[in-house]
Amino acid sequence: MSKVMLVTGGSRGIGAAIARLAARRGYAVGVNYHAQAGAAQAVVDAIRAEGGRAVALQADVSQEAQVLRMFQALDDELGRIDALVNNAGILEQQMRVEAMSAERLQRVLATNVIGAFLCAREAVRRMSTRHGGPGGAIVNVSSAAARLGSPNEYVDYAASKGALDTMTIGLSKEVAPEGIRVNGVRPGTIYTDMHASGGEPGRVDRLKSAIPLRRGGTVEEVAGAVMWLFSDEAGYTSGSFIEVSGGN
Ligand code: NAP
Repeated sequence: MSKVMLVTGGSRGIGAAIARLAARRGYAVGVNYHAQAGAAQAVVDAIRAEGGRAVALQADVSQEAQVLRMFQALDDELGRIDALVNNAGILEQQMRVEAMSAERLQRVLATNVIGAFLCAREAVRRMSTRHGGPGGAIVNVSSAAARLGSPNEYVDYAASKGALDTMTIGLSKEVAPEGIRVNGVRPGTIYTDMHASGGEPGRVDRLKSAIPLRRGGTVEEVAGAVMWLFSDEAGYTSGSFIEVSGGN
């Protein structure tokens, strides 16, 4: 039986690269998406074309009922989860803090923080030896923004990743005795569509000369770090973070 992984936001960008690499490493993959069903289906089709197993799972991770429905569908279609990647995340138009609406703050924090908590909760309920499970692993996709703060762009987003990092530390200690490892990856400036959500599709190229490695990162470079954290080689690694940020 292959192990089962759920990748939230697995339909595009970093999540899609994680889903594809995980399938190549033998995981059956739940590819979660929010709105773009076609993108999720394309990832599923690509995995199946290589002989892997995958299903597309629609859910807004910030909505508890939708998260519950997604985990039930994962149980039914692929089996009990072994590996969770909390990757779904959003940012909004670049602006200073004094211009941010309450609605925006709620959207960003609900998706990036509460969504990760809800998915981690459902995963722990299935993985933990305390609940009769065999253990498992969780990787939270944070951001270098958690360390840098993203001034003049999206301090709200950066703060949401700071909260995610604190969850990684606390949850890792809580569930380590129950067979679950929890780690984080902090990507830097990676070529994906996300920068367009902030109003600047060309952001990576604007910033790259200030990155020590003098270039933006690829989604595959992030996926490789995430998959190492799920590997047996990382068996003694929990509550830790890998920076995939070009030296920043
Ligand atoms: P992206 O290209 O914008 O893709 C975002 C993915 O998340 C899509 O699959 C999207 O699905 C999904 N998603 C968005 N809101 C969701 C929700 N409420 N519920 C479920 N799925 C949702 O983003 P990315 O650049 O790959 O970023 C992935 C993760 O890496 C994020 O957590 C981000 O903060 C982090 N990160 C990215 C960078 C970077 O430079 N790109 C740097 C540091 C950290 P739909 O297409 O259906 O909306």
